[in-house]
Amino acid sequence: MSKRKFIKAFLYGILYLVFPFKILAIEKKIINPNLTEEQKDIMFKEGTERAGSSILNYEKRDGSYHCANCNAKLFDSTAKFDSGTGWPSFTEALPGAFKTKIDYSFGMKRTEYHCAKCGAHHGHVFNDGPGKSGKRYCNNGLCLIFIPN
Ligand SMILES: [Zn+2]
Repeated sequence: MSKRKFIKAFLYGILYLVFPFKILAIEKKIINPNLTEEQKDIMFKEGTERAGSSILNYEKRDGSYHCANCNAKLFDSTAKFDSGTGWPSFTEALPGAFKTKIDYSFGMKRTEYHCAKCGAHHGHVFNDGPGKSGKRYCNNGLCLIFIPN
Protein backbone atom coordinates (compact mmCIF):
# COMPACT_ATOMS: atom_id res chain seq x y z
CA MET A 1 0.00 0.00 0.00
CA SER A 2 1.30 3.42 -0.92
CA LYS A 3 1.74 6.01 1.78
CA ARG A 4 -1.05 8.13 0.28
CA LYS A 5 -3.52 5.22 0.19
CA PHE A 6 -2.62 4.37 3.75
CA ILE A 7 -3.31 7.91 4.95
CA LYS A 8 -6.64 7.93 3.10
CA ALA A 9 -7.67 4.61 4.62
CA PHE A 10 -6.54 5.83 8.02
CA LEU A 11 -8.61 9.03 7.79
CA TYR A 12 -11.71 7.14 6.62
CA GLY A 13 -11.18 4.69 9.46
CA ILE A 14 -11.23 7.56 11.95
CA LEU A 15 -14.43 8.96 10.40
CA TYR A 16 -16.20 5.60 10.68
CA LEU A 17 -15.04 5.24 14.25
CA VAL A 18 -15.94 8.75 15.39
CA PHE A 19 -19.42 8.92 13.87
CA PRO A 20 -21.06 5.97 15.72
CA PHE A 21 -19.37 7.08 18.92
CA LYS A 22 -20.97 10.51 18.54
CA ILE A 23 -24.39 8.88 18.28
CA LEU A 24 -23.67 6.78 21.35
CA ALA A 25 -22.62 9.87 23.30
CA ILE A 26 -26.01 11.48 22.63
CA GLU A 27 -27.94 8.31 23.54
CA LYS A 28 -25.99 7.98 26.75
CA LYS A 29 -27.16 11.32 28.07
CA ILE A 30 -30.70 10.01 28.65
CA ILE A 31 -30.38 8.73 32.18
CA ASN A 32 -33.97 8.88 33.41
CA PRO A 33 -36.09 6.19 31.68
CA ASN A 34 -39.31 7.91 32.83
CA LEU A 35 -38.83 11.06 30.72
CA THR A 36 -41.86 11.81 28.54
CA GLU A 37 -41.54 12.37 24.75
CA GLU A 38 -42.04 16.11 25.35
CA GLN A 39 -39.25 16.20 27.93
CA LYS A 40 -36.91 14.29 25.59
CA ASP A 41 -37.76 16.68 22.76
CA ILE A 42 -36.79 19.71 24.87
CA MET A 43 -33.78 18.24 26.63
CA PHE A 44 -32.18 16.39 23.71
CA LYS A 45 -33.52 18.12 20.59
CA GLU A 46 -33.39 21.71 21.89
CA GLY A 47 -37.19 22.08 21.89
CA THR A 48 -39.20 24.66 23.84
CA GLU A 49 -42.39 24.15 25.83
CA ARG A 50 -45.43 26.37 25.24
CA ALA A 51 -45.21 29.64 27.25
CA GLY A 52 -47.32 29.60 30.39
CA SER A 53 -47.74 25.81 30.31
CA SER A 54 -45.54 24.96 33.30
CA ILE A 55 -47.02 24.67 36.78
CA LEU A 56 -43.60 25.77 38.05
CA ASN A 57 -44.48 29.30 36.92
CA TYR A 58 -46.66 29.41 40.04
CA GLU A 59 -44.26 27.65 42.42
CA LYS A 60 -43.41 30.03 45.29
CA ARG A 61 -42.23 27.65 48.02
CA ASP A 62 -38.67 27.47 49.37
CA GLY A 63 -36.68 24.63 47.90
CA SER A 64 -34.45 23.68 45.03
CA TYR A 65 -34.83 22.94 41.33
CA HIS A 66 -33.20 19.83 39.93
CA CYS A 67 -32.52 18.44 36.45
CA ALA A 68 -35.43 16.19 35.39
CA ASN A 69 -32.97 13.87 33.67
CA CYS A 70 -30.06 13.44 36.09
CA ASN A 71 -31.36 15.09 39.29
CA ALA A 72 -28.42 17.53 39.56
CA LYS A 73 -29.28 20.57 41.71
CA LEU A 74 -29.45 23.58 39.38
CA PHE A 75 -31.26 26.49 41.03
CA ASP A 76 -32.21 27.62 44.51
CA SER A 77 -35.72 29.00 45.01
CA THR A 78 -34.18 32.28 46.27
CA ALA A 79 -33.07 32.99 42.66
CA LYS A 80 -36.57 32.47 41.18
CA PHE A 81 -38.59 35.47 40.03
CA ASP A 82 -41.68 36.15 37.97
CA SER A 83 -40.36 37.40 34.62
CA GLY A 84 -43.80 37.50 32.98
CA THR A 85 -42.44 35.50 30.03
CA GLY A 86 -44.41 32.35 30.83
CA TRP A 87 -41.33 30.28 31.66
CA PRO A 88 -39.81 29.67 35.10
CA SER A 89 -37.07 32.30 35.45
CA PHE A 90 -34.06 32.64 37.70
CA THR A 91 -31.50 35.39 38.36
CA GLU A 92 -28.68 32.92 38.93
CA ALA A 93 -27.81 29.25 38.68
CA LEU A 94 -25.87 27.29 41.29
CA PRO A 95 -22.10 27.37 40.62
CA GLY A 96 -21.04 24.91 37.91
CA ALA A 97 -24.63 23.77 37.26
CA PHE A 98 -24.60 24.64 33.55
CA LYS A 99 -22.43 24.87 30.47
CA THR A 100 -23.35 27.48 27.87
CA LYS A 101 -23.22 27.54 24.08
CA ILE A 102 -24.11 30.23 21.54
CA ASP A 103 -27.30 29.34 19.65
CA TYR A 104 -27.99 30.99 16.26
CA SER A 105 -31.39 29.36 15.58
CA PHE A 106 -34.41 31.46 14.48
CA GLY A 107 -32.05 34.21 13.24
CA MET A 108 -31.18 35.25 16.78
CA LYS A 109 -27.96 35.06 18.72
CA ARG A 110 -28.81 33.57 22.09
CA THR A 111 -26.88 31.78 24.81
CA GLU A 112 -28.32 28.37 25.50
CA TYR A 113 -27.39 26.38 28.55
CA HIS A 114 -27.07 22.68 29.25
CA CYS A 115 -26.89 20.69 32.46
CA ALA A 116 -23.17 20.32 33.20
CA LYS A 117 -23.70 16.77 34.50
CA CYS A 118 -25.83 15.12 31.78
CA GLY A 119 -25.75 17.63 28.90
CA ALA A 120 -29.55 18.08 28.71
CA HIS A 121 -30.75 21.38 27.22
CA HIS A 122 -32.64 23.54 29.74
CA GLY A 123 -33.15 27.00 28.25
CA HIS A 124 -31.51 30.31 27.36
CA VAL A 125 -29.81 32.93 29.51
CA PHE A 126 -30.26 36.65 28.82
CA ASN A 127 -28.57 39.77 30.19
CA ASP A 128 -31.73 41.58 31.30
CA GLY A 129 -32.31 40.02 34.71
CA PRO A 130 -33.47 42.09 37.70
CA GLY A 131 -30.89 40.77 40.19
CA LYS A 132 -27.28 41.71 40.98
CA SER A 133 -25.97 39.27 38.37
CA GLY A 134 -28.05 40.92 35.63
CA LYS A 135 -28.85 37.45 34.29
CA ARG A 136 -32.20 35.94 33.42
CA TYR A 137 -32.24 32.18 33.10
CA CYS A 138 -35.32 31.29 31.08
CA ASN A 139 -35.88 27.60 31.81
CA ASN A 140 -38.31 25.06 30.39
CA GLY A 141 -40.40 23.91 33.36
CA LEU A 142 -40.53 20.34 32.01
CA CYS A 143 -36.75 20.05 32.45
CA LEU A 144 -36.99 20.84 36.16
CA ILE A 145 -38.11 18.98 39.24
CA PHE A 146 -38.92 21.12 42.27
CA ILE A 147 -38.02 19.70 45.65
CA PRO A 148 -39.47 21.73 48.55
CA ASN A 149 -37.35 22.23 51.66
ZN1 LIG B 1 -28.88 16.87 34.09
